[in-house]
Amino acid sequence: MGMIFTGQVALVTGAAAGIGRATALAFAAEGLKVLVVDLDSAGGEGTVAQIRDAGGQAQFLRCNVTREVEVQQMVEQAVATYGRIDYAFNNAGIEIEDSKLAEGTEAQFDAIIGVNVKGVWLCMKYQLPVMLAQGGGAIVNTASVAGLGAAPKMSIYAASKHAVIGLTKSAAIEYAKKHIRVNAICPAVIDTDMFRRAYEADPRKADFAAAMHPVGRIGTVAEIASAVLYLCSDGASFTTGQALAVDGGATAI
Ligand code: NAD
Repeated sequence: MGMIFTGQVALVTGAAAGIGRATALAFAAEGLKVLVVDLDSAGGEGTVAQIRDAGGQAQFLRCNVTREVEVQQMVEQAVATYGRIDYAFNNAGIEIEDSKLAEGTEAQFDAIIGVNVKGVWLCMKYQLPVMLAQGGGAIVNTASVAGLGAAPKMSIYAASKHAVIGLTKSAAIEYAKKHIRVNAICPAVIDTDMFRRAYEADPRKADFAAAMHPVGRIGTVAEIASAVLYLCSDGASFTTGQALAVDGGATAI
C-alpha cells in the first residue's frame, strides 16, 4: 500500500477470520511481524500459514479476550515473541442478536458486552503499558456504524459499539502526550462470515444491506484493512481519538 510504518510489530485480535485476518495479512504484506490473536486456533493458525506462505512473519496466540488472565498472558507472550507491540488492532467481536430490545436476553447482553466492550478494554489495559514502556504506539479498535447511531434489532450490539468509541476517545486523551494514538474504525456492512450469518440466509436482507450504502454495495475486508493500516501508519500521526466511518457513505445520509 506504500504506507510508512516506523514500527515493526502488529497485534490483531479476531484475526482467525474476516476483517481481522485481512488486516493481519495486510500488515504482513507491509513487512511487519504479526501476532495473530483469536479464540479459534484452527482459523488463527490458518492466518499464520497464509502470512508465512507469502514470505511474512507471524505467530498465533490463542486468547479469549473476555478473560483477564488470558489477555495478560497473551500480551506477555506477544512481547516475549517479537519484543514489542507497535500497533494493536482490537477487533474481536460478536453479533448474536436479531430481536427488538424487549426480546433480548441477559445471556445475550453479557456475551456481547463481554467480547465487544470488556475484550477491547482488557486488551488496551495490557497493551498500553507495553507501548508506554517502549515510548509509543498506535491502537485501533473495531467499533461499527452501529456505534454512531441506531441499530434496530441489534440494540445491545449498538450499545457495545458506542462503548468502544467511548473507551477509544478516553484512552486517546489520556495517552495523547505519550506518543500513543488511539482511534476506532466504524465499518458498515462488510462481506465476512458475520455478515453471511446475519444476512445471507435471507436474500431480501442481503439486498437491503447493499441498498443501505449510497455506493450500492457492501464493503470488503480489504477496504477495512487499508483504513486500519492508515490509522496505524505515520501518515496518521496527527489523528487520535477519532471514530472513522468506512461505510460507503451510509452515515452521510
Ligand atoms: P468474524 O466473525 O468473521 O470474525 C470475528 C473473529 O473474532 C473470529 O475469528 C472469532 O473467533 C473472534 N472472536 C470472537 N470472540 C472472541 C473472543 N472472545 N476472543 C478472541 N477472539 C474472538 O467477524 P468480522 O465481520 O470479521 O468482525 C470483526 C469485527 O468487525 C467485530 O468487532 C465486528 O463487530 C466488527 N464489524 C463487522 C461488520 C460486518 O459487517 N462484518 C460491520 C461492522 C463492524
